[in-house]
Amino acid sequence: MQRLLAWTADWLAKTGSPTPRIDSEFLLAFVLNSTRLQLILRFDQPVQGDELAAFKHLIRRRARHEPVAYILGRRGFHDIEVNVNSAVLVPRPETETLVDFVVAYLHDSAAVAGPVLDLCTGSGCIGLALLREMEKTNAIRDVYATDISAAALEVASANAVSQNRVLLAARGDLFEAVAPDLRFAVIVSNPPYVCTADWSQLEPDVRNFEPRLALDGGADGLDLARRIVAEAPYFLLPGGLLALELGSRAQALPICALAESRGFTYVRPTQVVGSATYLVTALQPY
Ligand code: GLN
Repeated sequence: MQRLLAWTADWLAKTGSPTPRIDSEFLLAFVLNSTRLQLILRFDQPVQGDELAAFKHLIRRRARHEPVAYILGRRGFHDIEVNVNSAVLVPRPETETLVDFVVAYLHDSAAVAGPVLDLCTGSGCIGLALLREMEKTNAIRDVYATDISAAALEVASANAVSQNRVLLAARGDLFEAVAPDLRFAVIVSNPPYVCTADWSQLEPDVRNFEPRLALDGGADGLDLARRIVAEAPYFLLPGGLLALELGSRAQALPICALAESRGFTYVRPTQVVGSATYLVTALQPY
Protein backbone atom coordinates (compact mmCIF):
# COMPACT_ATOMS: atom_id res chain seq x y z
CA MET A 1 0.00 0.00 0.00
CA GLN A 2 2.85 2.39 0.86
CA ARG A 3 4.43 1.95 -2.57
CA LEU A 4 1.08 2.16 -4.36
CA LEU A 5 0.29 5.46 -2.63
CA ALA A 6 3.74 6.86 -3.33
CA TRP A 7 3.41 5.91 -7.00
CA THR A 8 -0.07 7.35 -7.48
CA ALA A 9 0.81 10.53 -5.59
CA ASP A 10 3.78 10.97 -7.89
CA TRP A 11 1.59 10.49 -10.95
CA LEU A 12 -1.13 12.87 -9.74
CA ALA A 13 1.55 15.47 -8.98
CA LYS A 14 2.66 15.23 -12.61
CA THR A 15 -0.91 15.78 -13.81
CA GLY A 16 -1.00 19.00 -11.82
CA SER A 17 -2.83 18.15 -8.59
CA PRO A 18 -1.70 20.50 -5.81
CA THR A 19 -2.53 17.83 -3.19
CA PRO A 20 -1.49 14.52 -4.79
CA ARG A 21 -0.77 12.53 -1.63
CA ILE A 22 -3.97 13.53 0.16
CA ASP A 23 -6.01 12.90 -3.02
CA SER A 24 -4.52 9.38 -3.27
CA GLU A 25 -5.22 8.63 0.38
CA PHE A 26 -8.83 9.85 0.16
CA LEU A 27 -9.48 7.79 -2.96
CA LEU A 28 -7.85 4.64 -1.57
CA ALA A 29 -9.69 4.99 1.74
CA PHE A 30 -12.94 5.35 -0.24
CA VAL A 31 -12.26 2.16 -2.23
CA LEU A 32 -11.34 0.24 0.94
CA ASN A 33 -14.39 1.64 2.72
CA SER A 34 -12.24 3.03 5.51
CA THR A 35 -10.86 6.37 6.64
CA ARG A 36 -7.51 8.01 5.87
CA LEU A 37 -6.55 7.39 9.47
CA GLN A 38 -7.38 3.70 9.26
CA LEU A 39 -5.18 3.42 6.16
CA ILE A 40 -2.12 4.01 8.34
CA LEU A 41 -2.84 0.81 10.22
CA ARG A 42 -2.87 -1.13 6.96
CA PHE A 43 0.10 0.52 5.25
CA ASP A 44 2.04 -2.75 4.96
CA GLN A 45 -0.87 -4.70 3.48
CA PRO A 46 -1.11 -5.05 -0.30
CA VAL A 47 -4.05 -3.74 -2.36
CA GLN A 48 -5.17 -6.33 -4.90
CA GLY A 49 -7.84 -7.51 -7.26
CA ASP A 50 -11.10 -5.58 -7.49
CA GLU A 51 -9.96 -3.00 -4.98
CA LEU A 52 -6.83 -2.21 -6.96
CA ALA A 53 -8.83 -1.96 -10.19
CA ALA A 54 -11.40 0.33 -8.56
CA PHE A 55 -8.63 2.52 -7.12
CA LYS A 56 -6.91 2.83 -10.50
CA HIS A 57 -10.19 3.87 -12.07
CA LEU A 58 -10.65 6.67 -9.51
CA ILE A 59 -7.05 7.82 -9.89
CA ARG A 60 -7.57 8.09 -13.65
CA ARG A 61 -10.62 10.29 -13.04
CA ARG A 62 -8.60 12.49 -10.69
CA ALA A 63 -5.77 12.67 -13.25
CA ARG A 64 -8.31 14.19 -15.65
CA HIS A 65 -8.84 16.90 -12.98
CA GLU A 66 -12.17 15.77 -11.63
CA PRO A 67 -12.38 17.18 -8.07
CA VAL A 68 -11.94 14.55 -5.35
CA ALA A 69 -15.17 15.75 -3.72
CA TYR A 70 -17.18 14.84 -6.85
CA ILE A 71 -15.49 11.44 -7.09
CA LEU A 72 -16.27 10.68 -3.45
CA GLY A 73 -19.65 12.44 -3.66
CA ARG A 74 -19.03 14.22 -0.39
CA ARG A 75 -16.95 16.87 1.29
CA GLY A 76 -16.22 17.87 4.87
CA PHE A 77 -17.18 21.47 5.66
CA HIS A 78 -16.91 23.22 9.02
CA ASP A 79 -18.28 20.68 11.50
CA ILE A 80 -20.42 18.73 9.04
CA GLU A 81 -20.10 16.65 5.88
CA VAL A 82 -22.21 17.39 2.81
CA ASN A 83 -22.98 15.30 -0.25
CA VAL A 84 -22.02 17.02 -3.48
CA ASN A 85 -22.37 16.48 -7.20
CA SER A 86 -21.53 18.54 -10.26
CA ALA A 87 -24.70 20.66 -9.79
CA VAL A 88 -23.09 22.40 -6.82
CA LEU A 89 -19.82 24.12 -6.00
CA VAL A 90 -17.44 22.06 -3.88
CA PRO A 91 -17.46 23.73 -0.44
CA ARG A 92 -14.19 25.65 0.09
CA PRO A 93 -12.23 26.04 3.31
CA GLU A 94 -12.32 29.85 3.04
CA THR A 95 -16.12 29.72 3.22
CA GLU A 96 -15.80 28.15 6.68
CA THR A 97 -14.58 31.59 7.81
CA LEU A 98 -17.86 33.08 6.58
CA VAL A 99 -19.69 30.55 8.76
CA ASP A 100 -17.44 31.42 11.73
CA PHE A 101 -18.28 35.08 11.32
CA VAL A 102 -22.01 34.45 11.35
CA VAL A 103 -21.65 32.12 14.35
CA ALA A 104 -19.79 34.86 16.23
CA TYR A 105 -22.66 37.24 15.49
CA LEU A 106 -25.28 34.70 16.60
CA HIS A 107 -23.44 34.11 19.88
CA ASP A 108 -23.18 37.83 20.61
CA SER A 109 -25.62 39.14 23.16
CA ALA A 110 -26.41 42.04 20.79
CA ALA A 111 -27.61 39.68 18.03
CA VAL A 112 -31.23 40.24 17.09
CA ALA A 113 -33.74 37.42 17.28
CA GLY A 114 -34.95 36.09 13.95
CA PRO A 115 -34.29 33.61 11.18
CA VAL A 116 -31.26 33.20 8.90
CA LEU A 117 -31.22 33.33 5.09
CA ASP A 118 -28.51 31.61 2.99
CA LEU A 119 -28.66 32.94 -0.60
CA CYS A 120 -27.08 30.91 -3.44
CA THR A 121 -26.98 27.97 -1.07
CA GLY A 122 -25.66 25.34 -3.53
CA SER A 123 -25.04 22.18 -1.48
CA GLY A 124 -26.60 23.91 1.51
CA CYS A 125 -23.25 23.79 3.30
CA ILE A 126 -23.46 27.26 4.89
CA GLY A 127 -27.02 26.94 6.17
CA LEU A 128 -26.48 23.39 7.41
CA ALA A 129 -23.18 24.23 9.14
CA LEU A 130 -24.97 27.11 10.88
CA LEU A 131 -27.73 24.77 12.05
CA ARG A 132 -25.09 22.42 13.40
CA GLU A 133 -23.51 25.26 15.41
CA MET A 134 -26.89 26.42 16.72
CA GLU A 135 -27.63 22.90 17.94
CA LYS A 136 -24.49 23.01 20.09
CA THR A 137 -25.88 25.91 22.09
CA ASN A 138 -29.49 24.82 21.80
CA ALA A 139 -30.33 28.15 20.17
CA ILE A 140 -31.99 26.95 16.99
CA ARG A 141 -33.30 29.53 14.53
CA ASP A 142 -35.11 28.88 11.27
CA VAL A 143 -32.67 28.71 8.36
CA TYR A 144 -33.98 29.53 4.89
CA ALA A 145 -31.94 28.72 1.79
CA THR A 146 -32.50 29.75 -1.81
CA ASP A 147 -30.86 28.94 -5.12
CA ILE A 148 -31.76 29.63 -8.73
CA SER A 149 -30.69 26.11 -9.68
CA ALA A 150 -33.30 23.39 -9.11
CA ALA A 151 -30.57 20.74 -9.25
CA ALA A 152 -28.57 22.53 -6.56
CA LEU A 153 -31.60 22.92 -4.34
CA GLU A 154 -32.23 19.19 -4.65
CA VAL A 155 -28.73 18.56 -3.32
CA ALA A 156 -29.25 21.01 -0.44
CA SER A 157 -32.61 19.49 0.48
CA ALA A 158 -31.25 15.94 0.34
CA ASN A 159 -28.34 16.99 2.56
CA ALA A 160 -30.77 18.42 5.10
CA VAL A 161 -32.80 15.20 5.10
CA SER A 162 -29.76 12.96 5.50
CA GLN A 163 -28.46 15.14 8.35
CA ASN A 164 -31.86 15.23 9.99
CA ARG A 165 -31.86 19.04 9.88
CA VAL A 166 -34.56 21.43 8.70
CA LEU A 167 -33.46 23.71 5.88
CA LEU A 168 -36.31 25.82 4.49
CA ALA A 169 -35.20 25.60 0.88
CA ALA A 170 -36.91 27.47 -1.95
CA ARG A 171 -35.95 27.83 -5.59
CA GLY A 172 -35.67 31.29 -7.10
CA ASP A 173 -33.43 34.14 -8.12
CA LEU A 174 -32.04 35.55 -4.84
CA PHE A 175 -34.90 37.15 -2.84
CA GLU A 176 -37.50 36.16 -5.43
CA ALA A 177 -37.88 32.87 -3.55
CA VAL A 178 -38.46 34.62 -0.21
CA ALA A 179 -41.93 35.55 1.06
CA PRO A 180 -42.07 39.37 0.94
CA ASP A 181 -43.09 39.69 4.60
CA LEU A 182 -40.17 37.66 6.00
CA ARG A 183 -37.45 39.55 7.91
CA PHE A 184 -34.09 38.04 8.82
CA ALA A 185 -31.52 38.47 11.57
CA VAL A 186 -28.81 37.28 9.18
CA ILE A 187 -28.46 37.22 5.40
CA VAL A 188 -25.37 35.26 4.37
CA SER A 189 -24.13 34.34 0.91
CA ASN A 190 -21.23 32.96 -1.05
CA PRO A 191 -22.48 34.24 -4.41
CA PRO A 192 -20.80 33.60 -7.78
CA TYR A 193 -18.01 36.19 -7.97
CA VAL A 194 -15.53 35.10 -10.65
CA CYS A 195 -15.10 37.75 -13.38
CA THR A 196 -16.28 36.40 -16.73
CA ALA A 197 -12.95 37.35 -18.35
CA ASP A 198 -11.06 35.23 -15.77
CA TRP A 199 -13.04 32.10 -16.59
CA SER A 200 -10.51 30.66 -19.04
CA GLN A 201 -7.72 31.08 -16.49
CA LEU A 202 -9.41 29.04 -13.76
CA GLU A 203 -7.87 25.70 -12.83
CA PRO A 204 -9.19 22.87 -15.04
CA ASP A 205 -10.54 21.21 -11.87
CA VAL A 206 -12.89 24.17 -11.47
CA ARG A 207 -13.46 25.21 -15.10
CA ASN A 208 -14.18 21.75 -16.49
CA PHE A 209 -16.21 20.34 -13.61
CA GLU A 210 -17.86 22.90 -11.37
CA PRO A 211 -21.11 24.67 -12.38
CA ARG A 212 -20.44 27.95 -14.14
CA LEU A 213 -23.72 29.26 -12.74
CA ALA A 214 -22.22 29.04 -9.25
CA LEU A 215 -19.01 30.85 -10.19
CA ASP A 216 -19.49 33.43 -12.94
CA GLY A 217 -20.47 36.77 -11.41
CA GLY A 218 -20.44 38.81 -14.62
CA ALA A 219 -17.95 41.34 -15.99
CA ASP A 220 -16.46 42.39 -12.63
CA GLY A 221 -17.82 39.38 -10.74
CA LEU A 222 -20.12 41.56 -8.66
CA ASP A 223 -23.48 41.25 -10.43
CA LEU A 224 -24.99 39.09 -7.68
CA ALA A 225 -23.25 40.85 -4.79
CA ARG A 226 -24.60 44.24 -5.91
CA ARG A 227 -28.14 42.91 -6.14
CA ILE A 228 -27.86 41.30 -2.71
CA VAL A 229 -26.62 44.53 -1.08
CA ALA A 230 -29.33 46.56 -2.83
CA GLU A 231 -32.19 44.26 -1.80
CA ALA A 232 -31.00 43.05 1.63
CA PRO A 233 -32.18 46.18 3.51
CA TYR A 234 -35.78 45.24 2.70
CA PHE A 235 -35.34 41.77 4.23
CA LEU A 236 -33.12 42.46 7.24
CA LEU A 237 -34.34 43.22 10.74
CA PRO A 238 -32.92 46.33 12.46
CA GLY A 239 -29.53 45.26 13.85
CA GLY A 240 -29.40 42.32 11.42
CA LEU A 241 -26.18 41.11 9.80
CA LEU A 242 -25.30 40.93 6.11
CA ALA A 243 -22.25 38.70 5.41
CA LEU A 244 -20.85 38.00 1.94
CA GLU A 245 -17.84 36.21 0.53
CA LEU A 246 -15.97 37.89 -2.34
CA GLY A 247 -12.83 37.05 -4.28
CA SER A 248 -10.48 39.95 -3.58
CA ARG A 249 -9.95 43.31 -1.88
CA ALA A 250 -10.66 44.94 -5.26
CA GLN A 251 -14.11 43.35 -5.16
CA ALA A 252 -14.73 43.97 -1.45
CA LEU A 253 -14.12 47.73 -1.50
CA PRO A 254 -16.81 48.73 -4.03
CA ILE A 255 -19.29 46.43 -2.31
CA CYS A 256 -18.47 48.09 1.03
CA ALA A 257 -19.05 51.51 -0.56
CA LEU A 258 -22.37 50.33 -1.96
CA ALA A 259 -23.41 48.95 1.45
CA GLU A 260 -22.62 52.30 3.07
CA SER A 261 -24.62 54.14 0.43
CA ARG A 262 -27.56 51.83 1.19
CA GLY A 263 -27.47 52.85 4.84
CA PHE A 264 -25.63 49.87 6.36
CA THR A 265 -23.46 50.55 9.42
CA TYR A 266 -20.28 48.84 10.66
CA VAL A 267 -19.37 47.96 7.07
CA ARG A 268 -16.11 45.97 7.08
CA PRO A 269 -13.92 44.16 4.55
CA THR A 270 -11.99 41.31 6.20
CA GLN A 271 -9.39 39.19 4.46
CA VAL A 272 -9.69 35.46 5.09
CA VAL A 273 -6.39 34.29 6.58
CA GLY A 274 -4.30 32.38 4.05
CA SER A 275 -6.59 33.21 1.13
CA ALA A 276 -7.23 35.99 -1.38
CA THR A 277 -10.87 35.84 -0.36
CA TYR A 278 -12.57 38.71 1.48
CA LEU A 279 -15.65 38.84 3.64
CA VAL A 280 -17.84 41.90 3.52
CA THR A 281 -19.94 42.31 6.66
CA ALA A 282 -22.39 45.04 7.57
CA LEU A 283 -25.19 45.72 10.03
CA GLN A 284 -28.66 47.01 9.31
CA PRO A 285 -29.13 50.17 11.41
CA TYR A 286 -31.74 50.28 14.16
N1 GLN B 1 -13.50 30.61 -4.53
C1 GLN B 1 -14.08 30.07 -5.71
C2 GLN B 1 -13.00 29.84 -6.75
O1 GLN B 1 -12.05 30.57 -6.80
C3 GLN B 1 -15.16 30.97 -6.25
C4 GLN B 1 -16.39 30.84 -5.44
C5 GLN B 1 -17.49 31.76 -5.90
O2 GLN B 1 -17.55 32.27 -7.01
N2 GLN B 1 -18.36 31.97 -5.00
O3 GLN B 1 -13.09 28.91 -7.52
